[in-house]
Amino acid sequence: MKKPFGRKPGTGTLLANAGREKRFTGPFVNPPVVHASTVLFDTTGEMFSPRDYVYGRRGTPTLGSVETALAQLEDAAGAVLCPSGLNAITAAILPFVGAGDRVLFPDSVYGPARTFADAVLSRLGVRADYYDPADADDVAARVDGATKVVYVESPGSLTMEMQDIPAIAAVAHAAGAVVVADNTWATPLYCRPLDLGADVALLAATKYIGGHADIMMGTITANDRCWPRLKEVHGAMGVCVGPDDAYLALRGLRTLEVRLRRHAQSALAVANWLEGHHEVADVLYPALPSDPGHALWQRDMTGASGLLSFVLRGWSETEAAQLLDELALFGLGYSWGGFESLASIGTHGITRTARPYDRAGPLIRLHIGLEDPDDLLADLDEGFRRLRP
Ligand SMILES: *Cc1c(COP(=O)(O)O)cnc(C)c1O
Repeated sequence: MKKPFGRKPGTGTLLANAGREKRFTGPFVNPPVVHASTVLFDTTGEMFSPRDYVYGRRGTPTLGSVETALAQLEDAAGAVLCPSGLNAITAAILPFVGAGDRVLFPDSVYGPARTFADAVLSRLGVRADYYDPADADDVAARVDGATKVVYVESPGSLTMEMQDIPAIAAVAHAAGAVVVADNTWATPLYCRPLDLGADVALLAATKYIGGHADIMMGTITANDRCWPRLKEVHGAMGVCVGPDDAYLALRGLRTLEVRLRRHAQSALAVANWLEGHHEVADVLYPALPSDPGHALWQRDMTGASGLLSFVLRGWSETEAAQLLDELALFGLGYSWGGFESLASIGTHGITRTARPYDRAGPLIRLHIGLEDPDDLLADLDEGFRRLRP
């Protein structure tokens, strides 16, 4: 901002201004893309006195601008960048656990986080346990004195269960645990986990922050209580990102609000259409009034994004695959959050240990991109007609 602004800025204003401080940008609108390892000092004396920049891994104007923007967006004590969303998950948990401790994950957690828990945390002597994502009482039943992290992801991956973050945070804090929230789906624009009781919030910036399917990045923010430890361990582990990716994340951030609004509008149109379709048993999208998480979504979030799932009524996996293979506008691919629409079969990715997954038909996940929603609906309609005329 050119001068101090007298009132609390709206999100669009915040997105246009966040992180744009002269110490990062100089006289330009945007910060330079600083490629740097070594930082040079004028004297040996300078090497031992506190400086803004000491070594490429520990910060540059490009990285500083992105981190500052993210911290400002969430009113967080600070933000760090990671080379992927999955790395943001691991770097958000590791600072708060040691041998003998326990982490509670929702059963609907992003699959690779489960792999990290089972393959890495277990070898460090940290036990992972899983709870029913839609039942805060299940957290209360499972939490104990050894539980150091209670993890939330709302809505859950693939099956989209909304979580009662304030209720879960109250239970976790009473037991002395830190609450870590994956906020990739809603982004800081539509959900503020730190305000809902989480201590640490992370997201895959690979998705909507980047927004163009061309970067891998994760971000972590934290409140005053957890920031010093998070920052220390992030630095000690040597986690850092390249300047070109950081720049693209910052560029993506500027248009996040206008993109998300379009993603959400089109996703709601698709969700409504699917809900009225006789071949569809269930649509999983919290912005739909029929979704079991709708009331929580209305209470805790101010918008929805473009990712939804639906369950086909009595179809085989082979038929579901045929439907997706023949679509013209939906690419087949992992990830989401870019400008382009994507489809995948999610059923194989569902692992459940706390409450069995019991839906009969295949689960399809759609990412609704920025194409014209009428075209997307026509593509889906033709796809259904080909298979079930
Ligand atoms: C994609 C995703 C991640 C991981 O992000 P990457 O950048 O692909 O490592 C984490 N959490 C959620 C909810 C995701 O969808």
